[in-house]
Amino acid sequence: MKTENISIERKALVQFLDEELKTAMIQDYCPNGLQVEGTSHISTIVSGVTASQALIDRAVELNADALLVHHGYFWRGENAAITGLKRNRIKKLLTHDINLLVYHLPLDLHPVIGNNAQLGKILGLTPSGRFGNQELGWLGMLENPDIETAGQFADHVGKMLGRKPLLVGDPFLQLGTIGWCSGAAQDLIADAVSAGATIYLSGEISEQTVHEARENGIVYLACGHHATERYGIQALGNLLAEKFGVRHTFIDIDNPA
Ligand SMILES: [Zn+2]
Repeated sequence: MKTENISIERKALVQFLDEELKTAMIQDYCPNGLQVEGTSHISTIVSGVTASQALIDRAVELNADALLVHHGYFWRGENAAITGLKRNRIKKLLTHDINLLVYHLPLDLHPVIGNNAQLGKILGLTPSGRFGNQELGWLGMLENPDIETAGQFADHVGKMLGRKPLLVGDPFLQLGTIGWCSGAAQDLIADAVSAGATIYLSGEISEQTVHEARENGIVYLACGHHATERYGIQALGNLLAEKFGVRHTFIDIDNPA
């Protein structure tokens, strides 16, 4: 049974989100906004990083009217057919009338509630600039006198994110300008170097990332795709709860990658 609390019209909620996150102005490789249409009024929102089956199952248990995620469906280049696990996920959403709301790059980019803004905040980084394609990358400094080297910074990141990062390069490098970009942004290394960073962190790592880091003379920290992208979607859900009085629960489906 659904408990009575404040609800907002789906149309109004989607309009607010699309405007707040400037979806029309941002180029992306998936549709942003409402990806799967559910009930017309929303009072309970569940958020999470990825619209996996496990997250959908939890949203059903919690009687969610909307599932708010960073990683949805319909990625450019993927098979468009709704078969297999994609069919199972979408079927469950439709059966339970759950709206699927997806904000990918617009959520990475948002200056306050975005993944990179929130990641910087959690790590104690003071932002000083942006770099790279669509200014996805952030630059800043760590204001913490106890952390002087790249290795100490890696330990600090591990503590704050609950996941030990993989460090490529010299752990004794003195801390200078730090670049960061959540998720799979390891290919921004050269842009980070050009922008003046001596340490760059992102979520994932590829084989070539190690060579690129070494040959660019930068320290690279692979901190986990999931671990670096837990925070924006939570902040977005909290903003909706604050603004519209809807109920919001963030569900962390653990992912070591
Ligand atoms: Zn991502």
